Amino acid sequence: MTLDVAWAVEWTRRTAEQVLARRVELNELDRQIGDGDHGENMARGFTAVLAKLDARTEPPGDIGEVLKLIATTLMSTVGGAAGPLYGTAYLRAAKVTGIPELDPPAVVAMLEAALEGIVARGKATTGEKTMVDAWTPAVAAAVARTDAGAAPVDVLVAAAEAAEAGAVATIPLIATKGRASYLGERSAGHQDPGATSTAIVLRAAVEAANGVAPEMTAAQGA
Ligand code: ADP
Ligand code: MG
Repeated sequence: MTLDVAWAVEWTRRTAEQVLARRVELNELDRQIGDGDHGENMARGFTAVLAKLDARTEPPGDIGEVLKLIATTLMSTVGGAAGPLYGTAYLRAAKVTGIPELDPPAVVAMLEAALEGIVARGKATTGEKTMVDAWTPAVAAAVARTDAGAAPVDVLVAAAEAAEAGAVATIPLIATKGRASYLGERSAGHQDPGATSTAIVLRAAVEAANGVAPEMTAAQGA
């Protein structure tokens, strides 16, 4: 599938579906090192995004329009750290995707813009046990696959896989940013919720491109 506006809409729907399906898991991760609301925050935000998408009379004109709708909705409906962080990520990504279709360099540009937005907003660097630890390897993997001449969907696959590995790699880290930093060394031994939701978001982008049935992915995850 080409990464066009229909893909962007499908990406949004699958992200919403997956954050709702994994809401309890995300809450549980956040309960270990935060305040237990990350699943609620993401579910509330993406439920509102779907409502706005469905309420539209005109379909979105380009990918950037879809991402901007997500950005503004997350900023206005999600409290806590994740709303402004993801909101800024989607807003920056929207600015570089006002185009009909993403080629590999455009996928890289979108992911880089998202990461830059998160860093601009949260001032975290890698190794601080945040979503930056999923986005940073995702961008690096996307760049590497693009340089290797991969197809757009394969660039997304590389990003999703790297984000998943990055999320798992947050387990031993000691948090030095966000709510988890209040725990100091006791934050080690738990996977960061925001890095985990980042992996969910990027995996949804792959599934939207591949047209994998949501039931199938749920079964694979079980
Ligand atoms: P809150 O911490 O306000 O309850 P959430 O639980 O929704 O918000 O989100 C927590 C996630 O936000 C963390 O797991 C982490 O990935 C991310 N996060 C928190 N602070 C920062 C930061 N300064 N930079 C990047 N990500 C951050
Ligand atoms: Mg929280």
